[in-house]
Amino acid sequence: MTAQVDLGLYGELQKFGAADVSACFSCGTCTASCPLVTEDATFPRRMIRYAQVGLRDKLLSSKELWTCYACGECSETCPTQAEPSEFMAAARRFAIGSYDRTGLARTMYTRPVLGTAIAVFLAAFFAIFMAAGHGGQATGSLDLFGFVPEDLIHTIGIVVMVIVALAGLAGIVTMARQVGRAEGVGWRTVVGSRAAVGRSLGALWEAIGLESLGQRRYRADCDADQTVGDADKAAVPLYRRRWLLHAVTMWGFLGLLGATILDYGLALLGIKATGTPVPIWYPVRLLGTIAGLMLVYGTSVLILDRFRRANRSVAHSTPADWTLLALLWITGVTGFALEVALYLPGAPGWGYWVFLFHVAVAMELVLLAPFMKLAHVLYRPVALFFYALARTPEHPDRQGGTT
Ligand code: SF4
Ligand code: SF4
Repeated sequence: MTAQVDLGLYGELQKFGAADVSACFSCGTCTASCPLVTEDATFPRRMIRYAQVGLRDKLLSSKELWTCYACGECSETCPTQAEPSEFMAAARRFAIGSYDRTGLARTMYTRPVLGTAIAVFLAAFFAIFMAAGHGGQATGSLDLFGFVPEDLIHTIGIVVMVIVALAGLAGIVTMARQVGRAEGVGWRTVVGSRAAVGRSLGALWEAIGLESLGQRRYRADCDADQTVGDADKAAVPLYRRRWLLHAVTMWGFLGLLGATILDYGLALLGIKATGTPVPIWYPVRLLGTIAGLMLVYGTSVLILDRFRRANRSVAHSTPADWTLLALLWITGVTGFALEVALYLPGAPGWGYWVFLFHVAVAMELVLLAPFMKLAHVLYRPVALFFYALARTPEHPDRQGGTT
């Protein structure tokens, strides 16, 4: 099959923040220094080559784009300062913009002022919408759902979840079809026989359980030699390691999502009405508190590291990086402020408004997930699934199939 050349690809990637890689002369030093490269992988050099010669489809169907953890090692060793790590990050942004057919992700990335305005508008919209329907403020104890009716929150939440599910699914299908075609993997390879299903389940476990949630290779390869600054090359303590910060942020976010869903489930089962004050050791509350602590810790250190450009991986920050971190941090911190308000005597009035703000930002965060950096939560597991599948002996690659 003839590959189509798109001469505008490189320019387009630059709109997504790609560094000037015209200086790259394919020496391969970056590939040699990348801790994730295996004997059959040649990234990031090959990705840069695709951009240089305009192979858009090849770039968008490369699972390797998503296996990169942005450690910055390759940029450190590049003899021409072509910033391959930055290029990989920009290529992932470009991919998110391309898999999303609504155009919103592209706008969020390529027009940062408008993107920020959209983010602010959405939060304001949710807040004003809920404020318009708010009830009274009980003074004995904080009655949050008497202030913002539970039904209103649930209705908005369901609408948000449906939009996110549809947009996320559409993006995942688009990506999976492109990567699958490039990898020679079709439905039959995945579910065509009992053995295929077994292989696919194994690959799924590796992609989601071991790599995404367990951060196996991130821990083992990409973080082992992380250093602080260029001067002293001191080893980074565990509590500051990138994989740990990323993990606690992710687990904290998922924990809070889980606690919210469980709380709703308990109300549906008639065990506990949503918002009823419970002791700190009540399981759902405990989960929410621990998850909130993890989220606030992870995002706070990540924000500080980006401000201080503490290591090579955060040498360059885009508005998209800041927006995601800011939304996560605000969600975590307002959640804690709410906890404080709940246990204070006399139902402080500010607690009601913090609650409204917290819900508005959390909803915005979820709604924008498929259209901003958080979308890597959707796409990385897909790439890792194909990556795991490619390593099974029965994969077409191993039998002389197409790549
Ligand atoms: S990005 Fe730098 S290290 Fe990598 S192939 Fe190009 S010139 Fe070599
Ligand atoms: S940033 Fe790290 S993981 Fe990504 S390509 Fe460069 S060296 Fe490899």
